[in-house]
Amino acid sequence: MRKTEALEKLTDRDKKHLWHPLTQHKVSPDMLGIARAEGALIFDEDGKDYVDGIASWYTCMYGHCNPYILKKVSEQMQRLDQVVFSGFTHEPAVKLSEELIKILPENQEKLFFSDNGSTATEVGIKMALQYHHNQGEKRNVLLAFEEGFHGDTFGAMSVSGLSVYNGPFADFFIEVERIPVPTETNIHQILTFLERRLEHNNIAGFIYEPLVQGAAAMKMHDVDGLDKILGLLKEHGILLIADEVMTGFGKTGKYFASDYLDTQPDIMCLSKALTAGLVPMGLTTCTQEVYMAFYSDDVAKGLFHGHTYTANPLACAAALAALELLQTEEIQTGIQNTIQWHQKFDEEIKHHPKVASTRQLGVIYALDLNIKMERYGNLRNQLFKHFMDQGVFLRPLGETIYILAPFITTKEQMERIYGAIKSALELV
Ligand SMILES: *Cc1c(COP(=O)(O)O)cnc(C)c1O
Repeated sequence: MRKTEALEKLTDRDKKHLWHPLTQHKVSPDMLGIARAEGALIFDEDGKDYVDGIASWYTCMYGHCNPYILKKVSEQMQRLDQVVFSGFTHEPAVKLSEELIKILPENQEKLFFSDNGSTATEVGIKMALQYHHNQGEKRNVLLAFEEGFHGDTFGAMSVSGLSVYNGPFADFFIEVERIPVPTETNIHQILTFLERRLEHNNIAGFIYEPLVQGAAAMKMHDVDGLDKILGLLKEHGILLIADEVMTGFGKTGKYFASDYLDTQPDIMCLSKALTAGLVPMGLTTCTQEVYMAFYSDDVAKGLFHGHTYTANPLACAAALAALELLQTEEIQTGIQNTIQWHQKFDEEIKHHPKVASTRQLGVIYALDLNIKMERYGNLRNQLFKHFMDQGVFLRPLGETIYILAPFITTKEQMERIYGAIKSALELV
């Protein structure tokens, strides 16, 4: 290391060569240097700690550097690091398929690996399009919810309704039609619209974030309404693609948001907490029926999609360890405790004059402020800074403040988050 590097802070060295995601560098030049993380805490390079109130984008649900997951992955690392998954298979992938199938919705039978949430939805979209193509049916349109978010690759971007940043690419998207999320008042209208629309049925699949739209600021919708939409679409042979990249693995209080619904998806997309924040991996699961549309003597009917790191053994080992933890009493108790703490906190603040509305599903809690804010505006940045000063990492989305902390967050750490939110309400 050169002497200047040792003296300079990460924040300064970062500026020379690095380009960060979702960042306009001219407006936001400073990145905070993070030195380490443990449990629900992250530590910056000066040693100050922050409660990770969003589990680093909903990944590290069992805590950062979880010792059990680290142990399992380091054991795996010394046995088999990486091998091609085309023509070969290995224990971590096989075992993960056996274990995951036990908790997935009953109709899910096959697992297809990729690298992250965007590729998981990309694969789901390709499965749906090719499913109809393989059967000689021309269905070239996808249906999606307004304000949905499904990732940043082209297919995923196309179906995402949150398009503020997609402008330069919009001319290159695949064909997508959108419906609003169901509420008690609009559900009848949505169903009537769909019935008419489906008289000409060229829709291959419907992609949806079940019950909670993460990037739309934890917007929640109605179980009953969603069930009705899914039921109708299923009758018309439209493949249901549940994007559970955010909602999966216990966050909603059940293993999957789809577990709240009667109509099960044909295809599911998983990532984020799948590997507990240790390494990236995506999974697209499907029913036997979807799989059979690709099963043929004709090679061209196969799904010709593959990433170099498909089913990386270390990622599979992390996912297996995470899955084991998810089913332990300790984690399940953590989930129940968090649900109750949030409910109590909600009672305290929901009538505050600065709070417009609140919502909760499982360990996901969100409140809307009574103030209009820009997604990356000044007040939002002030709020963010206030939270960081209080030792709490939260990322307000527009006028929404949400909590999605690791399942292992202690009462004391959660109180730090609540306290920072309460003092923020006095600030705005
Ligand atoms: C984060 C997210 C994605 C994209 O996942 P990446 O790993 O960031 O590519 C897709 N869908 C949903 C619902 C997400 O929350």
